[in-house]
Amino acid sequence: MRDIATPTKTKEILMKHNLQMKKSLGQNFLVDTNITDKIIRSSDINNNTGVIEIGPGIGSLTQQLAKYAKTVMAYEIDQRLLPVLEDTLQDYSNVHILNQDILKADVSADIKLYLNDVEEVIVVANLPYYITTPIIMNLLEADLPVQRYVVMMQKEVGERLVADPGSKSYGSLSIAVQYYTDVSQVMIVPKNVFMPPPNVDSIVVKLEKKSDLPDVGPIKQCFKLVRGAFNQRRKTILNNYQSVFVDGKSHKESIKEWLLEADIDPKIRGEVLTLEQYSKLNKLLNNYPE
Ligand code: SAM
Repeated sequence: MRDIATPTKTKEILMKHNLQMKKSLGQNFLVDTNITDKIIRSSDINNNTGVIEIGPGIGSLTQQLAKYAKTVMAYEIDQRLLPVLEDTLQDYSNVHILNQDILKADVSADIKLYLNDVEEVIVVANLPYYITTPIIMNLLEADLPVQRYVVMMQKEVGERLVADPGSKSYGSLSIAVQYYTDVSQVMIVPKNVFMPPPNVDSIVVKLEKKSDLPDVGPIKQCFKLVRGAFNQRRKTILNNYQSVFVDGKSHKESIKEWLLEADIDPKIRGEVLTLEQYSKLNKLLNNYPE
């Protein structure tokens, strides 16, 4: 089988199966093998790797993954694509297509079932953009045996993942993802390598799981503090905490004291604080009201 990720081959497959792409499912298929090659190279795949793909589409990236990996397990929500994938990936016996919504799948159980004989599990995907954040957060929070993620998404969202404190894109998502992984940018991807081209530019980012998670105190409470600080981006941390804590207004002085005890100026904004600083605040706080 020739490479699927070309305009000619993609058109041929769509015609053969009389397939109309669904915008509502984020169906923008890759039609440039330079991009699939670069994704494969930055994923460090070898013949002992198990790959989880989200949204194989017509198999453009799946085909390349199947060439290099031991096994590929791919979640595709669109039932119409099953016969297409059966056709386009017929040469690869190491691919398991699961017709499931990734947000509802039991990925941990599926890894045990399909990827039990691999040395390393990784996620490689051109994600459906409309659910990028829930996909990433669900997978990270599920504590899966996944070593790294090489994922394509809308550029604006990817920039939030790699953002440093103080930058425009930095927010609670940056902090949450950087708590679990070391994040780096692989490449910016223009619109014209997709069929049909999406409205936005894309980015590929790599998330490498940290060997030890940082000690931030009670984790749920820590993320509540982070989200609280970004409640209204333009407000100071003191003002934000005054409005998110129950009775915060009447406890202005004690909130101020608590911030000062953690060496944080109450007049700064949450967007300049690092995870370490939130963690310090968290450890000084006994319980955050539900
Ligand atoms: N991997 C292909 C490529 O690079 O050409 C297709 C990527 S396309 C951006 C996203 C794919 O995700 C589509 O095939 C779409 O049907 C699928 N998808 C959308 N929502 C999904 C969900 N909740 N669970 C699993 N797959 C989903």
